[in-house]
Amino acid sequence: MTIDLHQLALATIDAAADELALDGWHRALLRRPERSISVQVPYVTDDGSVEVVPGYRVAHSTARGPAKGGTRFHPDVTPEEVTGLATLMSVKTALMNLPLGGGKGGITIDPKGLSETELESLTRSYTRAIAGQIGPQTDVPAPDVNTDARHMDWIADEYARVTGRHCPGVVTGKSLAAGGSLGRDTATAAGCRTVVHASARRLGLPADARVVVQGFGNAGAHLAAMLAADGLRVVGLSDSRGGIHDPNGLDVAAVGATKATHGSVVHHDAEVVSPDDLLALPCDILVPAALEGAIDRAQAETVQARLVAEAANGPCTAAADAVLADRGVTVVPDVLASAGGVTVSCFEWQQNERGERWSAQDVATRLSSRMECALDDLWRVAERRGLPLRTAACVLGVGRIVEALDRRELTVTHELAS
Ligand code: NAD
Repeated sequence: MTIDLHQLALATIDAAADELALDGWHRALLRRPERSISVQVPYVTDDGSVEVVPGYRVAHSTARGPAKGGTRFHPDVTPEEVTGLATLMSVKTALMNLPLGGGKGGITIDPKGLSETELESLTRSYTRAIAGQIGPQTDVPAPDVNTDARHMDWIADEYARVTGRHCPGVVTGKSLAAGGSLGRDTATAAGCRTVVHASARRLGLPADARVVVQGFGNAGAHLAAMLAADGLRVVGLSDSRGGIHDPNGLDVAAVGATKATHGSVVHHDAEVVSPDDLLALPCDILVPAALEGAIDRAQAETVQARLVAEAANGPCTAAADAVLADRGVTVVPDVLASAGGVTVSCFEWQQNERGERWSAQDVATRLSSRMECALDDLWRVAERRGLPLRTAACVLGVGRIVEALDRRELTVTHELAS
């Protein structure tokens, strides 16, 4: 399902602005990005010709710190989508109380057919085009759809060539050799793990609660393994080919081995279930960790879990969300449950800026403490205002941005007036 991310971001801002009774100038600043650029990105193809594609970089807000957000290479990338994603990043970093704002970038291209050399030419050219916009104290890109550590290493290197300064903090999600952080690969799963445990405790779920994880990729597979190691029973798993079920708990490591050998979890020795039936399995906790829009209204009607932790971005449609709320299912929204990645990105940036290297244990401890604090803050706001967690997350995030804006803008306004 395609979601209009720009409209979603504006609706998020408006809902929080209404709840906080914000005035016109706050709304105006929040509804539009601080800075955005459109660039032309020429790159050299393997046959020696030059292609040109459009690229974008948007810093929605730097009120709380340098803009932070991924870089997406996809044929559907538009300036509106990038702006919407940058806006949502501002809310996410504020909700996590990170010293960062929100940004996003992208190139409108299908990178699937490109060779490694073409990808490098494209990424370096994009970096030169946006070099004036990014920087460790202004706007810090990271990986997103179809980009990974290779692309981030190229960005860091090209930025150093353009500016003449070694500057690893200009980008996060780098390889370890280029200044990346330990724990980045499993950060989203590790963050969601903390959220699942802390939420389960609040709801009084048993220590061996039954979990279903939809999606067995980077986020889902690591998370399922972690939760199984913690003593929860992973009773259902799925990937794009279908799902599997074992009421006594699946051996997640063995499922991973099956997927690595045969390409899908459905080849594992367990009852095979359809994608719809997976969501309706008897369980206590459901973790959507696949695609956006993966749970619709009809599927939400069948969910038996008491807790849904959104490891994926936007997995529940608005209609599904309303159904789950009506049915008393607690939904920990993506803006928190999937925030482990950006949190460790922040740690990487902090290590680079301070010239430090933190141990894996240090990263894990700091991450779980951040996630626990954010969940506590969120739960408190939701209870105090009588809001679902998703709305409370927007209110908390937007409220923090507004506090920072007030400090900054009112100072400037007073200076101008005096
Ligand atoms: P991935 O591509 O590694 O894995 C996606 C998984 O979902 C695959 O196993 C795929 O087979 C499965 N899948 C696809 N369609 C499915 C369907 N209809 N039913 C069940 N499974 C299906 O992606 P990922 O990095 O694990 O990301 C998953 C989600 O988490 C995305 O929404 C992503 O935006 C979000 N997320 C990921 C990270 C991260 O660091 N990896 C960070 C924040 C948010």
